[in-house]
Amino acid sequence: MNAIPGPALDPLTLLFSLGALGLLMAALFLRLARTLPRHRGALAAWSRAMAAAGAAFLLFFLRGHAPLVLTFLLANMLIFGVAYWGHEAHARLLDAPPQRGWSLAWCAVGIGGVLAAQGLGLPRQVAFVTISVGFSAILGMTTWLLLRAAGGRRRSPSMLAALLCYGMLSVAFGARAVLGLLGSEAQLHPGAVSLAQLFTLVPGTVLIVACSISFLCMVHEHQLREVEDDARRDGLTGLHNRAALMQLAARIDAEKGAARAPYAVVMIDIDHFKAINDAYGHGGGDAVLVHAGRLIAGSARLADFVCRWGGEEFCVLLHGCDAAEAAAFARRVVEEGGTQVVRLPGGELATFTLSAGYATHPGHGAQSVAGVIARADAALYAAKRAGRNQAMGETQALAS
Ligand code: GH3
Ligand code: MG
Ligand code: MG
Repeated sequence: MNAIPGPALDPLTLLFSLGALGLLMAALFLRLARTLPRHRGALAAWSRAMAAAGAAFLLFFLRGHAPLVLTFLLANMLIFGVAYWGHEAHARLLDAPPQRGWSLAWCAVGIGGVLAAQGLGLPRQVAFVTISVGFSAILGMTTWLLLRAAGGRRRSPSMLAALLCYGMLSVAFGARAVLGLLGSEAQLHPGAVSLAQLFTLVPGTVLIVACSISFLCMVHEHQLREVEDDARRDGLTGLHNRAALMQLAARIDAEKGAARAPYAVVMIDIDHFKAINDAYGHGGGDAVLVHAGRLIAGSARLADFVCRWGGEEFCVLLHGCDAAEAAAFARRVVEEGGTQVVRLPGGELATFTLSAGYATHPGHGAQSVAGVIARADAALYAAKRAGRNQAMGETQALAS
């Protein structure tokens, strides 16, 4: 077979540079794993992948100067560590189950070829082809993982960039397998200036540089989203907070004409909560608050919006809901509240009651969400004045 000429790169220098870069990336991601505990698993897996890449490229660089068991056998085993941990890192970051069984199976295909070449003396091409096929398959699995994530709601530019890189890498290693079949043994040597080696060095650079950057950007995007989510949550009950309700209100108020659906607002307040605090201390009061929050959230539908309005007061926005449904919801919560017994951190048992007021918006008309909240709040205070432990709509409130 004639030599397939490749551009005049200096493969050995590139192999050394990629090795050093891989180890540098591994150190960087290990440091990040320590400082970002929420993504520790994903970052540590990527750090392992980069350490394996760095070590493998440095061993390839040493081919001819160190035993083959290191520069061929171990180096190619490490290459499968890159694919395996790279897949694991993306699965963890994207909250998708990693295909560990399939990853290991493809690792076995690749490493099987390496062992056959090393142990049975089969031509080096066999290893070159099985490594390329196994590596391409695992990269393809990671591409599929990213493709599924990119089809979801939380698609981001860095996810699309990672998808593009992984898709191209998977194809490139497929092409490398074909070049392995066509190339001579000399062309497949790590230091050779050949098209086959170009298909090792260029994808290797993309993997270590571009995939690391896209992975880091994805982690960054996750973090930003988490900070935003945290800012919309109440720290004690885990429910949404008032700021999140205000955002929702702005969206609803901005909806025009037919897009607007009717909705109801229910304001709920724990009765005589100050007395609960006085009797059981602030910790006991907190436990009752958390319990009441769970009860209210558990009574609402998933699509409804439950927030801690402030102190011991909750606000629920029920989508597509008329006055009768709002009344049924408010009564159900109040009745349930009266039957609850809360075990406090000190072991005491506490009971509580709730008062609720509700108001509705028909879906047309100019009134803002803030206006509906104010009407529901007025109904809540009417329920308080009427003796507490009851639900009241605004019409009853006006009549009382
Ligand atoms: P009413 O039936 O009229 O609602 O009486 P109340 O005692 O429930 O209402 P009041 O507004 O007099 O007291 C509310 C108390 O809630 C006062 C405040 O110290 C307490 N509180 C507010 N936020 C928290 C909190 O996060 N934890 C605890 N434990 N108490 C809180
Ligand atoms: Mg109260
Ligand atoms: Mg209150």
